Amino acid sequence: MRVFKKSFTQQEAIPEAGIAAAVEILRSGRLHRYNTLPGEKSETDLLELEFAEYQGVPYCLACASGGYALHISLRAAGVSVADKVLCNAFTLAPVPGAIHNSGAEPVLVDVADDYCIDIDDLESKAAETGARFLMLSHMRGHLADMNRIVEICDRYDIFLIEDCAHTMGASWNGRKSGTFGDVACFSAQTYKHINSGEGGFLTTRHSEVMARAVMLSGSYMLFERHFASPPKESFEQIRYETPNYSGRMDNLRAAILRPQLADLDVQCKRWNRRYRIIEKILGVRPGIRIPGRPEAEQFVGSSIQFSLPQFSAESMLKVVELCGARGVVLKWFGDSIPRDYTSRYDSWRYIPHLPQLPKTEQIISTLLDMRIPLTFSEEDCVLIAEVIVDVVNECRI
Ligand SMILES: *Cc1c(COP(=O)(O)O)cnc(C)c1O
Repeated sequence: MRVFKKSFTQQEAIPEAGIAAAVEILRSGRLHRYNTLPGEKSETDLLELEFAEYQGVPYCLACASGGYALHISLRAAGVSVADKVLCNAFTLAPVPGAIHNSGAEPVLVDVADDYCIDIDDLESKAAETGARFLMLSHMRGHLADMNRIVEICDRYDIFLIEDCAHTMGASWNGRKSGTFGDVACFSAQTYKHINSGEGGFLTTRHSEVMARAVMLSGSYMLFERHFASPPKESFEQIRYETPNYSGRMDNLRAAILRPQLADLDVQCKRWNRRYRIIEKILGVRPGIRIPGRPEAEQFVGSSIQFSLPQFSAESMLKVVELCGARGVVLKWFGDSIPRDYTSRYDSWRYIPHLPQLPKTEQIISTLLDMRIPLTFSEEDCVLIAEVIVDVVNECRI
């Protein structure tokens, strides 16, 4: 019996250039983003400028986490208590958490067969609830038809916040993920596409939204020290009207992120080679379903999702268990017990009027997820996929 030996939670080392920059910051003691000399830009300032340039957007704020960026993006968009915010029912906990943190109420939208948001359900829930905000997760890197999403948002006058935690580096029809909505949020948590342990970004093309986000993020009155930000005139009123919810990025994390951002496109290609290897082996096994990726979608395969549509809950648990015994760590999104990074929408019991979503239930009941860390070689990916095929054969009903 072949067993895989590497860890699914081991990421690559920080690039040497990042380590050197971090050591320099430590030696200077100037870790705070505003601890600069006159005319100097901090590592955080430079990171914001570089990320704005990478995305091709005017404004970027680096902050404490992806979830924090999601929270303040709602606040900056003007969400207030009891407003309704549409979001995917199939997403990760920081999304409904950010909505709850803003005082608003999540309206969960079904998942479609391609693991994206169900666009028909989105449209009917937009019409039904009158919600003016959509927090759209590109969950596990799957991009919905962005033209249709934008069209619906325009028609219903919905403010679109893209959750790009899994699509940093991805595009739709050649246009970067995160440039379709009004705001986009990214994460630099260890298991995303660049790693500072914790960290996040908010980007937008709206100067007022950006000015509010800067104030919210804990800029004190130092907003003029933001360079990927609108001119000081934009802050004239906003500086008095906006509370400070400290959640800043610091220079140490910015220093290790900058060289990773410079490498991002190369890393994305490495992820995709691994993804395609696994996809190819699993995809031909009858009983395993992997939705094809649309041609318009230039995704980043940092994880893979697949379904075993004929499997019962019991067999799903068996697959997870047997793969685990052979060193292949799968997560089952249908598990009634929230585990590790996965949880079902109905485990977020703080959501008022938690709906029943039979279609989402059905899809997640046979949906598996696997991380693809870049510490795995392409040969590792072959072995992993073959282990999964063996186990699925063994558990076949
Ligand atoms: C990781 C993640 C976030 C942001 O998470 P943080 O841990 O707060 O950086 C948001 N949405 C999804 C779908 C995520 O996976």
